[in-house]
Amino acid sequence: MDKVVSLCKRRGFIFQNSEIYGGVGSTWDYGPLGAELKRNVKEAWWREMVYQREDMEGLDAAILMHPQVWVASGHVQGFTDPLVDCKSCKKRFKADSLQTARCPECGGEFTEARQFNLMFKTFMGPVEDEAAVVYLRPETAQGIFTNFVNVQTTMRRRLPFGIAQIGKAFRNEITPGNFTFRTREFEQMEIEYFVEPGTDQHWHEYWVQERFQWYSKYGIEKDNLRLREHGPDELAHYAKGCYDIEYLFPMGWSELEGIANRTDFDLKQHAQYSRKDLSFFDDLQKERFIPYVIEPSAGADRATLAFLLDAYREEEVRGEKRVVLGLHPTLAPIKVAVLPLLRNRPDLVELARSIARDLRRQFVTRYDDTGSIGRLYRRQDEIGTPYCVTVDVQSLTDHAVTVRERDSMLQDRISLEGLETYLLERLCGRDGS
Ligand SMILES: [Zn+2]
Repeated sequence: MDKVVSLCKRRGFIFQNSEIYGGVGSTWDYGPLGAELKRNVKEAWWREMVYQREDMEGLDAAILMHPQVWVASGHVQGFTDPLVDCKSCKKRFKADSLQTARCPECGGEFTEARQFNLMFKTFMGPVEDEAAVVYLRPETAQGIFTNFVNVQTTMRRRLPFGIAQIGKAFRNEITPGNFTFRTREFEQMEIEYFVEPGTDQHWHEYWVQERFQWYSKYGIEKDNLRLREHGPDELAHYAKGCYDIEYLFPMGWSELEGIANRTDFDLKQHAQYSRKDLSFFDDLQKERFIPYVIEPSAGADRATLAFLLDAYREEEVRGEKRVVLGLHPTLAPIKVAVLPLLRNRPDLVELARSIARDLRRQFVTRYDDTGSIGRLYRRQDEIGTPYCVTVDVQSLTDHAVTVRERDSMLQDRISLEGLETYLLERLCGRDGS
């Protein structure tokens, strides 16, 4: 993990938030390359979960919602952690994670445990009183449930169908940590998939497979992924079953995505609290019922971190250490780098810049002439750029360039005319992205 954290800072993937002020608890900023990587992760998810399916609609709901939403969902009452304070050093701990009866920091005595709600509170409007309290959503799911009827009727959907959403969520975690794994502000990629009761088991298993394959398709080693079924004691009170897709993070197996069968709990709750009819009328079978819901809930930040960790490798090449991010081309922040072999030759630099300009219309492209070619290659390897295009003296007369592939380091001589097609086939051929 330390190596990846250091690479992330050094190469502009992830910075500590408010760093010039000494940082603020477990919040992180995605730098230029991290923003690209995370965007590519989200786009890969959206493309496959929404565009490439005929049973899915997208949604972008607001972060602030009616406070009753969180009463109906159970978050106001139950989204809490038991906390204790140390009477001597005033440190705060999660009561259920403590091994001892006394403070592990100073040996002091604890206060009684209190329930601490994990939702961030703020005020809507100019008056800061209890009636104006709203919450920053702790999950994106509720925006989907409250829009179930809107989406179903406007899009004239029959079951089964799903609603997908990517968006920020906030949890005032007591013990965040492990870099971007657990943070107080994070981005979710959630699907609520509505099905007829009785078919829920089938769809639950279907989504577990579907989501598991998504991670390996984009490059995560099969050995570093596993499925874990929740035991009855771990299940949320509303869930009929839940699987976690876990990744072997440096701190051990940890959740990447949870896929739960939430039954008809959420829609029933919202129907009761809003007094609106949230049932579905099946016009073929002429019956009305509340759908069951399968929820594949993934974290965009966690997925991004897993892809980074899994891609990181160190190799020995001709006696020298080479650091490579073996990212899937679809996820790589920069697809092509154009590098002039000699940076003090104006004609070469001009040709290289014009090649970069042309490629930029099609691919995220970088031009770099700030070092020797060996050094420029290493730089691109380290940030996961799949292809480097080198422009040399010969390019001026034969109108061809050398294309080097990141993983094999094999080089091809390609004519300038054929360059775009060559790169298109390799960067975009596999999944139409
Ligand atoms: Zn203490």
